[in-house]
Parts: sequence; structure tokens; C-alpha cells
Amino acid sequence: MRDAMRRFCEREIAPFHAAWEDEGVVPRAIWRRAGELGFLCMTLPSEYGGADADFRASAVFSEELARIGASGPGFALQSDIVAPYILHYGTEEQKRRWLPRLASGEIVSAIAMSEPGTGSDLAAVATRARRVDGGYAIDGAKTFITNGVLADLVIVVATTEPGAGSRGIALFLVERGMPGFAAGRPLKKVGLKAQDTAELVFDGVRVGEDAVLGEIGAGFKMLMSELAQERLSIAVTAVAACETALEQTIAYCTQREAFGKRILDFQNTRFTLATLTAKVTMARVFVDRCIELHCRGELDATTAAIAKLETTELQFGVADECMQLHGGYGYMLEYPIARAWADGRVQRIYGGSNEIMREIIGRSLEGSRR
Ligand SMILES: Cc1cc2nc3c(=O)[nH]c(=O)nc-3n(C[C@H](O)[C@H](O)[C@H](O)COP(=O)(O)OP(=O)(O)OC[C@H]3O[C@@H](n4cnc5c(N)ncnc54)[C@H](O)[C@@H]3O)c2cc1C
Repeated sequence: MRDAMRRFCEREIAPFHAAWEDEGVVPRAIWRRAGELGFLCMTLPSEYGGADADFRASAVFSEELARIGASGPGFALQSDIVAPYILHYGTEEQKRRWLPRLASGEIVSAIAMSEPGTGSDLAAVATRARRVDGGYAIDGAKTFITNGVLADLVIVVATTEPGAGSRGIALFLVERGMPGFAAGRPLKKVGLKAQDTAELVFDGVRVGEDAVLGEIGAGFKMLMSELAQERLSIAVTAVAACETALEQTIAYCTQREAFGKRILDFQNTRFTLATLTAKVTMARVFVDRCIELHCRGELDATTAAIAKLETTELQFGVADECMQLHGGYGYMLEYPIARAWADGRVQRIYGGSNEIMREIIGRSLEGSRR
């Protein structure tokens, strides 16, 4: 499976990724191709178009994408975040309607939590869903939404009871083309240049009862229960990105020379790479353990937060040190390490910022987690 994924990444993504970065978005055809090969939503049951696989299948695909620095296609968001919400909380009709098309890549999806005025404090969302005849009318704006430009289906987090905090949150399935729903152009970012991160606007968007995902008022609980997988998915990408950066840097330092010897032969280079290798090895073992726990349904929120926190901090540290060892070439975008440096930075910010991860871990300290 890994070989097939690697072939797909190397032949059908890597040669085109730079052009997609210029365009700020990946083509829909690559979504359909990933679906055709069976690489999307593999953990879904086969009756909904999946492969009855466990999270390891998704993890291998994320690793292979990270190895070629393919930060554009938001496949993991569709497979590991959106599809599980619909599988776990959708009605039978919602599952039959959406899941097979998510797995085939026929449609692209997004999840819209963050707003211009609030990100970390999810319970404070201002996007409002008002009860109207036959359903709800949604008003508000979301920002930084991954897959936002291409998204045909968006899980929108809104409040039905302003002032009720987490008890007033609900999730809605909003479709492209619904009157009042519009996506902006791709936002200009420091990295992830081929990722179509966008703003979304909801201006009196009318949805029926059949667009409510799960129960009204239970949205916050649903979000919390799915976040462990989202954080693990980020950690998987982080460790693979670290391993790739190290491989590339060792190769570079082996062929580049200064003062009559290879860069690798300076003690500073060897010590730096040795220290990073030791840290990345520890991270790999921890994340593999988290994957095992998750496949058994035993990964708790605190352990997932630890994985997200440590691996994403490490990812940025590794990219920075590896860029340094490349000298001036490391700062040139044609070198993969420059892209890895720019792409890796956001991992500390999204998926719950690392300050929020510390809060989660901190809250567990007085309990009996272990
Ligand atoms: C490229 C990209 C893609 C994204 N994709 C999505 C997506 O698909 N869907 C989506 O909904 N969102 C997405 N986001 C949004 C992302 O999840 C938020 O940016 C993130 O949760 C932080 O929220 P904020 O930007 O509003 O920062 P704020 O919440 O305003 O935080 C600002 C700073 O304060 C810190 N802070 C906040 N609260 C606390 C606290 N209690 N204790 C200590 N420090 C705190 C934060 O850690 C941060 O350092 C994406 C963001 C980016 C950049």
C-alpha cells in the first residue's frame, strides 16, 4: 500500500506541486484520482465507499504526502476529519448521500470552525443559525478554512443560542451553490501555498432539518470527541516531515564542501544532525504508539495533545536547523528545505494552537490520567 501511495505521490503530485503553489489551489482532478486509487476516506466502512481500514492506512498516506512536501492537497482533512463526523453523527440518509462521494473524490469538503473574531475559543462562535420554517437560516463568516475554495460540502459550526456558550453549538452541512453561501479567493499565506485556505461567508443561507449533523446543542461535544484524531493526524505529518528534512539535509551536507571538507565532516554538523536524529527517533516511537492506541480506541485527548504539541514544535526546530545547514541555498524556495520551513510553521498554530495543547495537558495534571 505504501509503495502504491509513494508512486502516486512521486508521479502524479510532485512534478506539478510547484505550479499548484503558483495557482494557490490544487486541481479537482487530483482529488478524483486519489479517490479512484482508493486513497481517500480509507477508514470508512466499504458500504459507504471506504476500505474498512484502520487509521494506519490514512497515516501512511499522510506520511507519503509529507515525504514529497505535498502540502497542497487537503486529503487528510477530508479523510480524517470531515468523513468521521458524518460517519459518527450523521443520519443514515446523510451517510449515504455524502460519504461515497467524499471517498471517490467527486466532492471536496471542509470544516468551518474559526471566525475572524474567534479561533481558540470555539464556544464563542458568532455565526448564528436561526430557526425558520422548515429548518435554519445561517448568518456569519468563517476564516482560514482549509479546502475552502474547492469545498462542495462544509461542516459549519454555528450557535443556535447566542450567549449559551458551548451548550448552544450545532453543526450544519452546507452545500456549494446554496443561495447566500460564498467562498473567497485563496488567502495569501507564509507557506502551504498550494492549499486553498479561504474565507467563507453565510448570508441568510437556508438549510433544511436534514442539514443538521447530530443534535442541536451537542455540537461542542461532537467537536471535542473528534479532535484527538485531528491532532494525531497533524503529529503523523510532523514526524514524517522531520524525517524527510533530515534525509535531505544529510544528503546535502554529504556533497557540499567548505574549507576543503564536506559540511558533514564538521563536528558541529554531525552533532546537530545527531541531536535531531535522536529527537525525531523518540517522536516517531511515541507517534507510532499513539497510532496503535488510536486503532484500539484508547487514545485519550491529553495524549493526542502531547503528540501534537511535541511533534509540531520539533518539526519547526528541525526545519530551522536543517535550513541553517544548507547555508544560503536553504533560503531558496527551489530547495525543499525552504518550503518545509515555511510549511511547517503553521502546524504549531492550527488544529488547536500549541498553547491550547498546553492547557489541555495542564488540566490533566491533577487527575488520574496515567
Ligand atoms: C493555514 C491554516 C489553516 C486552517 N484551517 C482551518 C480549518 O480548516 N478550519 C478551521 O475552523 N480553522 C482553521 N484554521 C484556524 C486555526 O485553527 C486557528 O487559527 C487557531 O485555532 C488559532 O485561532 P486564532 O487564529 O483565532 O487565534 P487566537 O485564538 O486569537 O489566539 C491568538 C494567540 O493567543 C493564544 N491563546 C488563545 N487562547 C489562549 C489560552 N486560553 N491560553 C493561552 N494562550 C491562548 C493562541 O495560542 C495564539 O497564540 C486554520 C488556520 C491556518 C493558519
